[in-house]
Amino acid sequence: MFSFSNISSYHSELQAASFTCVEAVEFYLENIRKQQHLNAFVHVFEAESLERAQQLDCRRGNKEATGRLHGVVIAIKDVICYKDHTVTAASGILKGFKSLFNATVVQRLLDEDAIIIGICNCDEFAMGSTNENSVYGATKNALNETKVPGGSSGGSAVAVQAGMCMVSLGSDTGGSVRQPADFCGIIGLKPSYGTISRHGLIAYASSFDQIGIFGKNVDDLRHILSVINGMDDHDSTVAQFPARVFPSSPAKKTIRFASFQNAIGHSSLDPEIAEGIKDIAKKLVQAGHKLNNIDFGLIDFIVPTYYILSTAEASSNLSRYDGVRYGYRSTSGNKDLATFYKKSRSEGFGKEVKRRIMLGTFVLSEGYYDAYFTKAQQVRNILKQQTEKIFSANDIIIMPTVPTTAFTQGAAAGDPVSIYLADIYTVYANLTGIPAISVPLFKHSNGMPFGLQLLSKRFDEAILLDCATMLMQNYSSN
Ligand code: GLN
Repeated sequence: MFSFSNISSYHSELQAASFTCVEAVEFYLENIRKQQHLNAFVHVFEAESLERAQQLDCRRGNKEATGRLHGVVIAIKDVICYKDHTVTAASGILKGFKSLFNATVVQRLLDEDAIIIGICNCDEFAMGSTNENSVYGATKNALNETKVPGGSSGGSAVAVQAGMCMVSLGSDTGGSVRQPADFCGIIGLKPSYGTISRHGLIAYASSFDQIGIFGKNVDDLRHILSVINGMDDHDSTVAQFPARVFPSSPAKKTIRFASFQNAIGHSSLDPEIAEGIKDIAKKLVQAGHKLNNIDFGLIDFIVPTYYILSTAEASSNLSRYDGVRYGYRSTSGNKDLATFYKKSRSEGFGKEVKRRIMLGTFVLSEGYYDAYFTKAQQVRNILKQQTEKIFSANDIIIMPTVPTTAFTQGAAAGDPVSIYLADIYTVYANLTGIPAISVPLFKHSNGMPFGLQLLSKRFDEAILLDCATMLMQNYSSN
C-alpha cells in the first residue's frame, strides 16, 4: 500500500520495489477525486500522468538512469505555462488558452522525471489572499472548510495539505506562497528574486514575482529548489551563477537571529501568535543562539509601498490582454476599437483585477506619478538599504507570517483594504528581494495552524533551509 513521507524515502522504496510510480499516481488521483469539493485543482491530468508513471516504471525496470525527481508527483499553479495544457491565471480573460511552450521550471521538472498531475486553483492573476478571486470559485481549507486556504496560491497549498500530490509550485509576489502555507499548516518557500527563472510564469508585478515551493518537509523543498533554480537564457533577471544544489546540512551552532519589535508589537497581530513567536525566540536564546531586537520604524510603510508598486506594474503587465491577441474577446456591440478594448477587458477581468489595474493606472498617471510611484520607489530603496545593514550583523530575521490565522470564507468581501493590510509581514521580502520561508510550528487555540517566518540575506536560501529543518525538528507543536 502506497504512502509518502518524503522524496528520498520514496526513491528508496521505488528502488526496493515496495511500490511503483503508477501506484503513487493512482493514490493521488484517488485523493483528488475524494476531495473534489475543496476545489484545489482546475485541471487533473489523469490519463497523462498514469501513462508517464508507467513509462518511468518501465525505465526503472530496465535499469535506465533515473532523474533527480523520478516519479515525483507535482501540481502547479494556474499561472505557470505547461505546453499544450490550458493556463488561465484563474481569469475569464484567458478562458481556454493553451500554453505554447513550457515554463523553464516545468521543463526542468520534466527533464528530471517529475510527473505533473494537474493545475491548481488560485486568485485571478495571483491577486488576492483568499483564493476567492478565482473564475473557478473559491478553494477550501482542508483543515476547516469554513476557512480560506489563503492566497493567491491557495489551490497549490491545499493540494499538498490534503495529500493530493507530494509537492507543488506557486508564485509569490507579496506572500502568495508563504501566507497559504501558514494558513494550511505546511511549508512555503519564496526564494530570492533572481533564484528561479520566471520564463513562462504569467506576470503580475515583474520586479516582485518569484516562483515558490510548497511541501510538508524541508528536504522535499531542497530537492525541488535544486532542480529549478539557476540561470536561464530566457530570463535576464535570474542571477548569473550556475544552478546550485541544496543538500541537507546541520544548522550553524550559533545563529544570529533578529526580530523587529514593531512587527511583534504590531496592533494587528493576534496576541496568541505574538506569544508563540516570543516563546520560540526565548527558546532559541536558551539553546545558545543570539537574538537581536531591532526597532524597525518602516513597518507601516511596507503595505502601501507594495500596493503602489505592484499595482503599477500590474497595470502595465496586464495591458497585453486586449481581446485581440489573447483569450476572451467581446463580440457584441463593438462600434469602434476603444469600445472593443473596453468591453473585452471589462467582461474578461474580475473585480479585484480591475480594481488593481485602476489603482496602478492612477499612481502612474501624470500629476500623481511623483507623489505615489516615485515616493514608493524611494521607500523601497530605503528598505533595501536598511535590510542590507541588518544582514551585515544578523543571519536570520524571524517574524510572523500573517497577523491572524486563516480568515473565514466570505469575510474579505467588501473590505479589500483590511485584507491588503494582512500582508504586512510577507511583502517585505518581495520589496527587498530576499528569500523567506514559512515554517508550520504552531497551533492556535482556535484549532488552526500558523507559522514562523524566517528571512535571510539575498541568495542565502541554504541558511533558511538549514534553520527551518532545525526548527521543525526541535520546536514543532503540530
Ligand atoms: N496578497 C498579495 C496580493 O494580493 C499576494 C500576491 C501574491 O503574492 N501573488 O497582492
